[in-house]
Amino acid sequence: MAYKTVRINLTTPQSPRQSVLVIYTGGTFGMVYEPQTGQLVPFDFDRVVDRLPELKRLTFDITLLTLPAIIDSSNMKPAVWVELAQIIQDNYQQYDSFVILHGTDTMAYTASALSFILVDLNKPVILTGAQLPIGVARSDARENFITALEIAAAVDSVVSQDGYRPVVPEVCVYFNSLLLRGNRSTKRESVQFNAFASENYPHLATAGVSIDYNRLFIRPWQPGQALQLRTELDPNVTILKLFPGITQPVVESIVNIPNLRGIVLETFGAGNAPTDEWFLDTLKRAIDRGVSVFNVSQCEGGRVTQGHYQTSQQLLQIGVVSGADITTEAAITKLMVLLGQERDPQRLRALLAQPLSGEMND
Ligand code: ASP
Repeated sequence: MAYKTVRINLTTPQSPRQSVLVIYTGGTFGMVYEPQTGQLVPFDFDRVVDRLPELKRLTFDITLLTLPAIIDSSNMKPAVWVELAQIIQDNYQQYDSFVILHGTDTMAYTASALSFILVDLNKPVILTGAQLPIGVARSDARENFITALEIAAAVDSVVSQDGYRPVVPEVCVYFNSLLLRGNRSTKRESVQFNAFASENYPHLATAGVSIDYNRLFIRPWQPGQALQLRTELDPNVTILKLFPGITQPVVESIVNIPNLRGIVLETFGAGNAPTDEWFLDTLKRAIDRGVSVFNVSQCEGGRVTQGHYQTSQQLLQIGVVSGADITTEAAITKLMVLLGQERDPQRLRALLAQPLSGEMND
């Protein structure tokens, strides 16, 4: 599809060195008050410079692309993840980095999905958004967007035959002064500005007076590899969150969903689940018919250690795969992507257990 793009003409005289493609998907970020009704409505993103004139003072080239249908991110779908990945691939040679403006509600899912879809990514893809619309005076949109752009355009002074080395060549979420690995991020707050956390992986950067990068934890740049996409995502997955008192009909109705191929099992603590015979039998029957069950803890921090307690030993025995310290967002998107690649349940389980894109420490 041919997308319409708009270039921001910089006021700085020096010729721009880096070029950033901004992809606008929707969300709270782009809302303004309509003068007649006083209601919040999406604004014309092509005119973002009217709202943020400081964009013109940045020292790199910025191009804006708006998706044909802008959405509240609660309407995000795998097809849009693939569309975003395809836009990045189609523009990969032309731009040095990418910023995706996205609603906060499902940003961590999109960041996780893109980290698995974009294979051998060697350029920054930074997602950001806002808790308060750009049309509100106290909005966090300005800082989030400008700093995300700065991070996307950041390069090391080292120049190789492949060009400048980007500081953050991976999919990240930037929000409220923190740069997080995308597939380690979760939305943890719906009111305060500190909307995102990464409990099990260090922040990749902190933005204050300067932007301090935590280089040891940033994925190394590996130039010379061509970007490839995993575009087949299988939607036949679900999340089963355990709670004390969960009943057999509930578990059975989920496990027996027609065509189901993968379950993220949200367990207690370090990966523990009830030891009732009916529960383990129901799961085992699903695993025996080829459904992959991926064990993710309900705790934000820490990890699943199957076999540490008796209450997780049996999960290990029936073939549940440990998700180690993965987030639910990364687990469900990893399942979709791997199920789209691999039909053999045994091979799939082996792939699930390994880190695919820095989303877990096995
Ligand atoms: N509902 C909005 C969305 O995720 C919330 C936000 O952008 O912060 O699209």
